[in-house]
Amino acid sequence: MGEASTSKVRYTSTQRGAKKAIYDGFMYVFHREKKDGAGWRCDLRGNCNGRITVLRDDTVLDQQPHTHEPDWGRCKAQETRAAFPDADVAGCLFHFGQAQWRQLQGAGLAVAYHLEANEEMRANFHTLIALAFVPVDDVEDAFDALSEASVLNLQPIFDHVEEN
Ligand SMILES: [Zn+2]
Repeated sequence: MGEASTSKVRYTSTQRGAKKAIYDGFMYVFHREKKDGAGWRCDLRGNCNGRITVLRDDTVLDQQPHTHEPDWGRCKAQETRAAFPDADVAGCLFHFGQAQWRQLQGAGLAVAYHLEANEEMRANFHTLIALAFVPVDDVEDAFDALSEASVLNLQPIFDHVEEN
């Protein structure tokens, strides 16, 4: 046991609503209730016999080895998707982008935005939109850094975002 016994299983749902358990870089689908907990099996079960038994406190009682390496990236991606369902993220991003674009137009910068020479301005504007992807705790720092590095004529847009 040792190290593994101290970490807990985390749960997530797929877009189709199936519950998955995530543990140690592997993902599991529910298999069956057992006397001492819940049995979960590797979600790549076609090629793998990896299993865990999860106790009521979400710690793992026992583990059957997998035939493949753990995939931390895949687990992380699944958790991120579950935390931010695609439609919501896209929707918010769309509205955020639209709102910023209206600010840009309002500041009389739409023409400048399309000028070929103003590549830096476009890049700065896009980076501003990309702020939507920065973790909440880091947004302020990221924003300040961007604002300082940005071309001058975008300053009103940054000021507007800062106020909101
Ligand atoms: Zn497996």
